[in-house]
Amino acid sequence: MRTAIYPGSFDPFTNGHLDIVERASRLFDRVVVAVASSEAKHPLFSISERVALVKETVRGLKNVEADSFDCLLVDYVRKQSAQAVVRGLRAVSDFEFEFQLALMNRSLNDSFETIFMMPKDTYTFLSSRIVKEIAHLGGDVSAFVPAHVRTALAAKWAKK
Ligand code: ADP
Repeated sequence: MRTAIYPGSFDPFTNGHLDIVERASRLFDRVVVAVASSEAKHPLFSISERVALVKETVRGLKNVEADSFDCLLVDYVRKQSAQAVVRGLRAVSDFEFEFQLALMNRSLNDSFETIFMMPKDTYTFLSSRIVKEIAHLGGDVSAFVPAHVRTALAAKWAKK
């Protein structure tokens, strides 16, 4: 059983994230989308809301599950007996941070690999931050996120 962990804040989950999950699900027996609590980033959605949005999105992908974690990623990878961590690379600007993170994780635990995947080119400009900004200003985000995420964004801003 080859397991990959796809960690991130997913605040909220976008079509770019989904693209990476679909690619990983074709390479691994099991993929766990692991939502980091990321409290320091003051997320718009709570951890349980973000996990629920991921769950709803990946419902049709049989070997994909959603979970949350609040510890060091390397400890979570060990707990899940995973062989790999998957991260998405959109542009060169992602590279420096991702490179640092991957090598730091390797120095903490050398028993898994970090694998980088590139999304479909139309998603290379997409980020959760930009989606939140567009939705907040009343723009149409339907091309960038699943329908239920769009609904959740609209409800969140309506409450604020
Ligand atoms: P983090 O807060 O850990 O950066 P994100 O939720 O922003 O979490 O992203 C999780 C992972 O998904 C990261 O590896 C990020 O580079 C990748 N990612 C984010 N948006 C996209 C996208 N549009 N296409 C491909 N990968 C993406």
